Amino acid sequence: MDLRTRIKREADQCVKCGLCLPQCPTYAKTLDEGDSPRGRIALMQALAEERLPAAGRLAYHLDRCLACRACERACPSGVSYGPLIDSARALLEQRSPPRRGGSWLHAGLLAWTAGGPGRRRIAGRLLRLYRASGLRRMLRASGLLARLPRLARLDGLLPERAPAPGRRRTYYPPVGTARGQVALFTGCMTDLLDPDILNASLRLLRLAGYGVHVPPAQGCCGALHLHAGGLDRADALARRNLSAFNALPVDAVLYTASGCGATLREYPAAPGGGGAFTAPVVDVTHFLADLEWPARLSPAPLPRRAAIQDPCLQRNVLRDTTPPYRLLARIPALETVALPGNERCCGAAGAYMLEQPEMSDALRADKLEALRGCGAGLLVSSNIGCAIHLAAGLRLSGSDVEVVHPVVLLDRQVRAGAGAGNGRAVSGVD
Ligand code: SF4
Ligand code: SF4
Repeated sequence: MDLRTRIKREADQCVKCGLCLPQCPTYAKTLDEGDSPRGRIALMQALAEERLPAAGRLAYHLDRCLACRACERACPSGVSYGPLIDSARALLEQRSPPRRGGSWLHAGLLAWTAGGPGRRRIAGRLLRLYRASGLRRMLRASGLLARLPRLARLDGLLPERAPAPGRRRTYYPPVGTARGQVALFTGCMTDLLDPDILNASLRLLRLAGYGVHVPPAQGCCGALHLHAGGLDRADALARRNLSAFNALPVDAVLYTASGCGATLREYPAAPGGGGAFTAPVVDVTHFLADLEWPARLSPAPLPRRAAIQDPCLQRNVLRDTTPPYRLLARIPALETVALPGNERCCGAAGAYMLEQPEMSDALRADKLEALRGCGAGLLVSSNIGCAIHLAAGLRLSGSDVEVVHPVVLLDRQVRAGAGAGNGRAVSGVD
């Protein structure tokens, strides 16, 4: 089906009732109908019917959509807003290709994520060099970053410190009695910016008795390309991942970031219609939370309060926000609370945090205020994009609250509990 027909067919399901408006974060900020789901759907209809020019205000309002899909969840008519906005952006790309103002940063990000693990390793090394060589300090001190706002924003999002992404093995055997085989989807951002999430997942899965396959041919999930209108590239990435994972004899394909998970799960419904995974696609937090926990592993107590952030796609597409609470309940003395305002997007939304800094920061400010109000010393997020965006905001505000993935927190406590009984089962599993 061509893009115009696809857009018209889906948009025509909208009866313009407006029930989605109170759920929309951008509408809440501007109270502009063009920034609401209903307004955007009307603009998409006008785009498909060629009643309005593709550039100008139309593109402006569609670009300001976070694709958080809170509207989709609220819609009584069942409008599939996510695929609709992706198709509309693809049509915009066809009609006016250079419309992103030649954003070299965005283009570079898309080119990099389209590559394989080799390209990620090179990026990881460059990033380490940027930090360790003093170039980062020099750039910040020189005032040059102030004249290059996009680069300054990217620099602000990069973690202050990150371990080097290593060359991963393709298979990690289970520790102790084998219970099954799984595969791990590494994700491009996680591997580059917080490989600890992958290392912690590998350790816990192995300790729980699972052999873990990490197919080297896997690539980015394609979310960034899909949301930027790059349907062909997204489709190619989907095919690459399906062929890398479907050849493996595994019980599940596990992901660590809900943004990737939503995209992987929706491969069959994607505009390119690439196909489906043969094994269930499951959040690693969910998988670990549902496991019968090995008695030999006792996480050390952690007498702290952790606020849990619900990433949008976890809430609105995957529709299960319970796994982090259930997994972290294994840590004695840890108190978990839901971050107030969890139904609203934090403003990260993939490349949105780079492309739409004002709206992105305004939404993040609400989260940081909610966090201050709940008195937590830890902020738990199971989506890498949200985590780096929120952590950057906390650094800017001088806060010492740590942003951490639930699996990393559990792994840390399991290792801390090693001396108290986990013993040799934990040490040396890397
Ligand atoms: S709730 Fe659904 S039908 Fe109503 S305006 Fe929003 S998208 Fe349209
Ligand atoms: S996806 Fe999110 S930002 Fe976009 S229209 Fe829907 S609720 Fe608003």
